[in-house]
Amino acid sequence: MSEKQPSFIGGHPVLDFVNTVAWRTDPARRVERVSGTEGWLRWAVTAEVFPSVPDGGLPTGDAEVSGLLELRGALEAVLDAVTDGQPPPAPAWRALRLALLRAREAAALPPELPLRWEPGTRDLTDLRHALALRAEELLAGPGASRVRRCAGPGCGWFFLDRTRAGTRRWCSSGDCGNRDRARRHYARTHPTAPH
Ligand SMILES: [Zn+2]
Repeated sequence: MSEKQPSFIGGHPVLDFVNTVAWRTDPARRVERVSGTEGWLRWAVTAEVFPSVPDGGLPTGDAEVSGLLELRGALEAVLDAVTDGQPPPAPAWRALRLALLRAREAAALPPELPLRWEPGTRDLTDLRHALALRAEELLAGPGASRVRRCAGPGCGWFFLDRTRAGTRRWCSSGDCGNRDRARRHYARTHPTAPH
């Protein structure tokens, strides 16, 4: 059975960012898949938020990792509410608003069209700003109504549902989808087994 590694199944870097926690909705199994400054910088490149791992960039420390995780916590709460059809919780929304204001203040705005905020690509503070701006883009656009949460028990991963009917249920059919098939097969072949 596959272990849940950092994954890029979200279809949007902000969803992949929240998905850096595996078994997100199961407190007993919840596990971080990315850690440390180096780990996050490598993640940023794989997620295509940064063009390359910055070398000779400013040293970044634990405070910047916590800033990143704070934004992730806010996005987690907002996306959970969105997928539950609930209004976003006020503290998470305030945190997101603040992250956006800071990101805009720090970003460049090249004098050309289409107008685009350009966050830096050097360190984890830049990464936080970039992800806040991408979150705005996601939540302000048509993708917002396509965000789904995997139906796998404990999984909690988010993805953009690009199916025409909007009926995708699993983060990955080879992962939670498989587990579900195995569970249903077991229930069929062991009708008296306790659940
Ligand atoms: Zn899943």
